[in-house]
Amino acid sequence: MAHPTETFRARYRANVAPHYNPWLHAGFVFGYGIAGILLAWSSTHRITPLQWLTVPATLVFFNLCIYLVHRHLGHHKHALARLFYARHTGDHHSFFTPGHMTYDSPRDWRVILFPAWLIVSHGSVEISSTDSMSSGLIAPCGASSSSDSIALTRSSVSPSTIISSSSIPIV
Ligand SMILES: [Zn+2]
Repeated sequence: MAHPTETFRARYRANVAPHYNPWLHAGFVFGYGIAGILLAWSSTHRITPLQWLTVPATLVFFNLCIYLVHRHLGHHKHALARLFYARHTGDHHSFFTPGHMTYDSPRDWRVILFPAWLIVSHGSVEISSTDSMSSGLIAPCGASSSSDSIALTRSSVSPSTIISSSSIPIV
């Protein structure tokens, strides 16, 4: 009898669109990130040492936000984040379970990388938030972020609970 994770993986892979290109997907994620960094870098000049300190402070703050979103929205059903829960707990943590923590082929990146549409929409929110913050319209809190770490090693949900995901991969 096949391991439940292997059964889930087979079902998940069968639902990935045949034209899915993992290299294009990963290239987009990487390129979008580089473009964002270059865009941000192009808007800076004469950075003071005190301003440089915002880099580690931001990394700590943003990672705290990611951790909280991951823990509370990624692992618990919430009306505001159904898709995120289904994709994260239902798919990601069913695909990667203890003893099954590696991917078998680049096509498995589909369950690791965020969808391009989510990255673009999230990026748009971040840019508009930055504009709003710089104009003083909103406070600088990323609590509404839906980002998540892809380096996931632990889940508070047992595999037998999450193996029943009915979400279908969307390219
Ligand atoms: Zn998780």
